[in-house]
Amino acid sequence: MRAALVDLDGTVVRGGSLLPGAAAGVRALRDAGLAVLFLTNNPTRPPSDWAAHLTDLGVPAAPDEVVTSAAATRDYLDDHFAGARVLAVAGEAVVEQLRAADVTFVDVPGDADVVVAGFDATFDYEDLTAGLRALRAGADLVGTDPDRWVPTDEGPIPGSGAIVNAVAGAAEVEPVAVLGKPSGETTNLALGRLGVPAAECLLVGDRLDTDVAMGEQAGMATAVVLTGATDDAALAASDVAPDHVLDSLADVGSVL
Ligand SMILES: [Mg+2]
Repeated sequence: MRAALVDLDGTVVRGGSLLPGAAAGVRALRDAGLAVLFLTNNPTRPPSDWAAHLTDLGVPAAPDEVVTSAAATRDYLDDHFAGARVLAVAGEAVVEQLRAADVTFVDVPGDADVVVAGFDATFDYEDLTAGLRALRAGADLVGTDPDRWVPTDEGPIPGSGAIVNAVAGAAEVEPVAVLGKPSGETTNLALGRLGVPAAECLLVGDRLDTDVAMGEQAGMATAVVLTGATDDAALAASDVAPDHVLDSLADVGSVL
């Protein structure tokens, strides 16, 4: 193993706090000589903010050691929709990061070539109507990530996937792409950043359908941690079979 792709929410952190043993787990990976890349479907915080936050919590991280679903969406827009007019059905924290892409943001649904849907804590009927009208007028739909819900200290909250699916469902269309894990675009972005082939990577995360599925599809070794979205019952019911099951990231040294 030369590199580890490590999920953040539910694996290293929950809400604003570090999960117990997470700092020791990341240290064990680095002490074993692995390059560590943090890979998150949370599009609301830019990599530089994540790096500062992790460092404050006792897990030193540089901005280029964090890949977010917003960064993957920005790259996808540049590759497939350069020069396009974008209607955002996403919160300002997401849109702010997409401004670096070679696209123009528009407010009139009929003017849009593409609708980008993603996390928005103030999503409402008006946003849904705008997205619906743009898609019915022929725009393509791109989602930042598929996570339908996200665990927080107060309980689950709707994630980007809830909004992507609301807009897609209303308009009766399928997205042309949903970035973040487990998309191939995000896999390629992460592997390109690491410069390591998939077969020499370990993927660690708390979700079977995004984290472990991505690693499995790419041919990585996979480990699920039971500190987030997956419990024993979910594991037993799933078709996705991680190579390793860990109580927490603290135990990651055992799989190296
Ligand atoms: Mg997670």
